[in-house]
Amino acid sequence: MPIDPTLPYDDNNIFAKILRDEIPSNRVYEDEWAIAFHDINPQAEIHVLVIPRGRWVSWDDFSARAEAEEVAGFIRAVGNVARQLGLVEPGYRLLANIGQNGGQEVPHLHVHLFGGQALGRMIA
Ligand code: 5GP
Repeated sequence: MPIDPTLPYDDNNIFAKILRDEIPSNRVYEDEWAIAFHDINPQAEIHVLVIPRGRWVSWDDFSARAEAEEVAGFIRAVGNVARQLGLVEPGYRLLANIGQNGGQEVPHLHVHLFGGQALGRMIA
């Protein structure tokens, strides 16, 4: 079920638990602002999720209320992950789902990073 991105942050969401290491994940990157780990149900050869350490439900509250330093830190982290995975030269895709029409299921901001293959059309 897609989430309502206008609801307050829920500290018991699955990505909050991954951040606190209460449930395992296959981490590929971490820094002061973000962590990245492989999606449990990959939709491409490479499918990594990049999430901020901060308590943000979606791109909406993050872009509206996060401090500039955190916004910059998160965006740089996404780029760092792609570079670290060697995806710049072959290319990759970023995707953020927001709310009902976006099909967002986890109420903690995440950017999907897809790569490792030709990714086809933007929307199937
Ligand atoms: P959304 O639809 O919210 O944009 O994407 C949520 C993503 O989180 C999905 O691609 C789903 O496979 C992934 N996911 C859900 N639960 C877990 C989990 O416990 N671990 C990992 N690694 N990924 C998860």
